Amino acid sequence: MRVLFAAPAQGWDRWSGPLRAACPEMELLQDGAPDSFDALIYAPGFPAGGAALDFTPFNRARLVQSLWAGVERIVGNPTLTQPLCRMVDPGLRQGMVEYCVGWAMRGHLVMDSYAQDGVWRNDVVPPLAAERRVTVLGTGALGGAVAQALAALGFDVAGWSASGRAVDGVTALAGADLGAALARAEILISLLPDTDATRGLLDADRLALLPRGATLINPGRGTLIVEADLLAALDRGQVGLAVLDVFQTEPLPPAHAFWSHPRVIVTPHIAAETRPSTAAPVVAENLRRAMDGRALLHLVDRARGY
Ligand code: NDP
Repeated sequence: MRVLFAAPAQGWDRWSGPLRAACPEMELLQDGAPDSFDALIYAPGFPAGGAALDFTPFNRARLVQSLWAGVERIVGNPTLTQPLCRMVDPGLRQGMVEYCVGWAMRGHLVMDSYAQDGVWRNDVVPPLAAERRVTVLGTGALGGAVAQALAALGFDVAGWSASGRAVDGVTALAGADLGAALARAEILISLLPDTDATRGLLDADRLALLPRGATLINPGRGTLIVEADLLAALDRGQVGLAVLDVFQTEPLPPAHAFWSHPRVIVTPHIAAETRPSTAAPVVAENLRRAMDGRALLHLVDRARGY
């Protein structure tokens, strides 16, 4: 099986060893005749130079396996006719759970209220988790795990998704319940993908539905939020803390107002990364499935865009 590593060259040293170890029958290459490859392992940034990859000549490829969970930069590529699978792996899931639980705790425990300024603020006592309502937008592989982890800590968690997907210990809300999902969200976490349907979803009207002083955590995609509307909501105190990992423009421009806003925390798209140690076995499993003609794992629905 010949597989093209269609990912930025700087990832080669990190990925090639674990991928070859997980799938010894694979011949993993960085270059070669497109029609000689049985599959592609893809990550954004390939090819170098910014042009979109033309998948047309890869006429015998049976799989394009993304190393990223988010596939918005490839799913709309009109030359892509091969099956596209996104990355779902235990390391990504655990990383995202840790990121979201950590930052949710900062909001929950009102950590920012206790400045080192000599003031004894014993009137600021956080409630217990059971008294704190959390909503997770998007309860897929990552959002579902985050919702479950927060529920296990005792939080009152609701999960909102297109289908109202069930998650153990979490109140399931579906498409039309968005208003109710936001209205209860003292802590709002979004793990929605970037699609036509999610772009600009959190605008001024929707942000106004949040309880006053809500904590917003967005490690999903930056296109979800109308950034000027969020800044206005922060300035009026509607949103008390925004922890943002993803942005309309990345890297976030140095002059962007988010960098200097006292109630914004910027993290540089690091919420969860795909780690070769946990992801390589997933890639190997999907390559074998593709070669054997078996059902693929985490196949992207092109019509829905995720
Ligand atoms: P999944 O595809 O497993 O889950 C997506 C969830 O979003 C599903 O619950 C889906 O609903 C829901 N959804 C999608 N569109 C809509 C809509 N229009 N209305 C309501 N719900 C919707 O994805 P993952 O959980 O694996 O990943 C989620 C996102 O996290 C990725 O797309 C990526 O953008 C981001 N991410 C960010 C990282 C970071 O480091 N910042 C790292 C990895 C991922 P349903 O269940 O009904 O289908």
